[in-house]
Order: sequence, then structure tokens, then C-alpha cells
Amino acid sequence: MLYEYRLETPKRNFYDVTAQVREAVGKSGVWDGIAVVYCPHTTAGMTINENADPDVARDLLFALDKTFPDRPEFRHSEGNSAAHLMASAIGSGVTVVIDGGRLLLGTWQGIYFCEFDPPRSRKFYVKIVGWAGGGCL
Ligand code: ZN
Repeated sequence: MLYEYRLETPKRNFYDVTAQVREAVGKSGVWDGIAVVYCPHTTAGMTINENADPDVARDLLFALDKTFPDRPEFRHSEGNSAAHLMASAIGSGVTVVIDGGRLLLGTWQGIYFCEFDPPRSRKFYVKIVGWAGGGCL
């Protein structure tokens, strides 16, 4: 099953999409399997990290800015090469195990859509593969 979600990203930020992924798992009826959460954009990404302290996401953005500053040597005409670099460094998808109908996330883990080139109208996909008990869905 494939689920599509949309979100508006007014600023550079990590947007918590854990609730949407949980919703997709619930709709799917899958009991044992995997959820692939995929971002189909070149200046945004997907990651899993701490969802308890918002300073963690802030620190990650700070570190990405320091690691991938905008440089005059960049040739990409759109002018957002730093955002492309961050997207590749973070990656475009995460996979989470579904066990007993639940996402097998750690206590402090959340799933984040990472916006590096706002503002945008974005989307992401949740692909769920697994078994509902009676057979493969
Ligand atoms: Zn670009």
C-alpha cells in the first residue's frame, strides 16, 4: 500500500511526520512488515532522530549549515547547491520495522521531513509492505 502526504514548509526545519506514518500503518492493517518513508525532492530529506528536545533538530541544522555553507564556487544556476548537498547527506528515505501493528521506533525517536530550501509545497510517500496475519498484503 502506498500513502501520499503533503506538507507546507515555510522555513528550514525538521518537520515531525511520525503521526502521519503511524496513521498509514493503521490504515494498512499490516501487523508485521516495514514502512518505507520516502521524500521525492532534491532539496529536502528524511531522517529519524530525537523528538523530545527540539534543540536537537536546531543543532542538526546548525551543524549542516557549518558543514555545507553556500560557496561562490558552486555552479548550479538555481543557487541552492547547499540545500542539494544537505539533502544528499541526510538521504531521501528511512525504513522502519512494523511489529505487532506498531512502528518499532525507540522511545525518543521521531521521523522527520527535513526542509533545506523553503518555502515549498512538499509531499512524501509511505510505502507499507507486510502481513496482516492471514497473508501478504
Ligand atoms: Zn537546485
